[in-house]
Amino acid sequence: MSETTKRKRAKSTFHGGLEGSLDSGAIAVLLMGLLAGLWALRAEGSCGILWAVFLWIVASVSRLVLRSLAENIRLQKKALGLPYSGKISEAKETVMYSCSECGAMLHSETRCDSCGRTVEGDA
Ligand SMILES: [Zn+2]
Repeated sequence: MSETTKRKRAKSTFHGGLEGSLDSGAIAVLLMGLLAGLWALRAEGSCGILWAVFLWIVASVSRLVLRSLAENIRLQKKALGLPYSGKISEAKETVMYSCSECGAMLHSETRCDSCGRTVEGDA
């Protein structure tokens, strides 16, 4: 019996790419904005609060813009079948149910508040 083994590919992740750099840049912009806001608070006292809030908002929005650029690159790379780093953001789904008999929105999982019928399980 031989004592050798073969390596098999267990998992692979991709790093870098422009989308990764944009994510890093987004974090850097956010940190700079936070620090500048704190500096404004210290330097200007109570007047600095306005500057701080302004800087924090600008930093957050800049981060969102950079992240959306990164997501755009990821989506295009995914569509072309190219490897990309990071994750594509997922939207959260909220499902509202209505009664099939009277059409009212259901607020309970067991009973319709409007017509009083018992709700059956999903077919
Ligand atoms: Zn109903």
